[in-house]
Parts: sequence; C-alpha cells; structure tokens
Amino acid sequence: MNIEAIKSNYEEIKSELPDNVKIVVAAKTRGLDELKAVIEAGARIIGENYVQEAREIKEALGKKSNSLKWHMIGHLQTNKVKAAVEIFDMIETLDSLKLAAEIDKRAKEINKIMPVLIEVNSGEEDQKTGLKPEKTVEFIKDISLLKNIKVSGLMTMGPRFGDPEDSRQFFKKTKNLFNEIAAEKINNVQMKYLSMGMSNTYKIAIEEGSNMIRPGSIIFGERDYS
Ligand SMILES: *Cc1c(COP(=O)(O)O)cnc(C)c1O
Repeated sequence: MNIEAIKSNYEEIKSELPDNVKIVVAAKTRGLDELKAVIEAGARIIGENYVQEAREIKEALGKKSNSLKWHMIGHLQTNKVKAAVEIFDMIETLDSLKLAAEIDKRAKEINKIMPVLIEVNSGEEDQKTGLKPEKTVEFIKDISLLKNIKVSGLMTMGPRFGDPEDSRQFFKKTKNLFNEIAAEKINNVQMKYLSMGMSNTYKIAIEEGSNMIRPGSIIFGERDYS
C-alpha cells in the first residue's frame, strides 16, 4: 500500500475513535517506510510480535523510536524475556507463572517496573496462548506479589477469522472478567487497559468496552509473508 494511503487509513480510524481508546499499531512484517508513514500520521504506540523485529525497526528509526511506546503483542518465549524487558514499554501477552517470574527477574536486573497485560484465552479451545478465564483471578493474585511487574489490564485475541460478530461474546466475557478483577481491588494491580479488537473486530470490541485496539491490515493492507 502506498504511503499516503497508510496515513489516511490511520487518520480515518483515529478520527472515529472515542477519546479514551488507544491505538496499538500492529506492525508485524511492515517495513521502515510503512512505519514512518503511520508515525507521521500520529501513531504513538507500536505493537510488535517478535523481539528481533522490534529491535531492528527501533534501530532503523533511531531517535524517533524514543518518542513512541512499544508493546509486545506476540507470544513471548522465556529465552527472549531479557531483551523484551529492555525493548518494550508494555508486554501484553503474559499468560504463565514461569514467564511472570522471568519478567520480574529481568526487570529487576535493570531497575524497571514492567507494565504487563494478562492475556486471556477468551475463546478457550480455539487457541493455545492465554489463560483460561476462570484461572485469571488467581493468577493475578499470585503475580501481584512480584515487585517488578505491574499488572495494568487484560488482553484478548478472540477468533481470528469468520464473522466479526462472532467475536462479540468473547469480548463481552473478557470485559466482565476485567470488571470482576477491578472489583477485587488487588494490591499492586490496576485494571486500566482492556486490549481487544483487530482490523475486522475493533468496532465491536469498542462497543464491548475495549480501550486499546490493535489494528494492522486495515492500516497497511494485507500482509505479504512471502
Ligand atoms: C497481527 C496481530 C494483530 C493485527 O491483526 P490485523 O488483522 O492485521 O489487524 C493484532 N493483534 C495481534 C496480537 C496480532 O498478532
């Protein structure tokens, strides 16, 4: 897609959003020129699926990358945590105690409090990553004791394909869980961000309470993995 189209796509989405909703631009597979275009159009949060890709694009952007927030939105492997904690401003995909312990340890080493979202597997059997909804409260209570992690909300994927309306029930379920956790008033836990909705589902997600959306292809065009 050409640079002007990317800018106008971003501006159009932004202009229609309620003020409280943040856009995390899902940037996987996109090149430097595409990223620069979306930043020029006003993007301030970039979502990356891979540590290495994030590192390379940040380097390529140079100083410009410092004025942006970088979110890890892909599944994080334990052996990548050290780098992830250095690179990212938020990890949206925390879903295991093992990962939490590693993030805490690596964040502590560099004196950082790492903001995280807990990834909820709201669609359950369809997908492998994320915590089962019924395990989420207990999980958050456990990791709230880790001093170098700051739980800041929830993230969910929902089904990738099919009718976007089919996602609504999963978003609703995640929003209910979000409210339930907020009501628990767990020490050191904030339910501030609810990250849900991608290109085909973000409008529905916002109707169901999302305040952080992760569009990619609606801004940049279809991904080319070749
Ligand atoms: C790729 C990706 C997106 C964006 O998907 P699109 O369909 O391109 O909008 C959002 N969230 C996550 C976690 C992704 O991996």
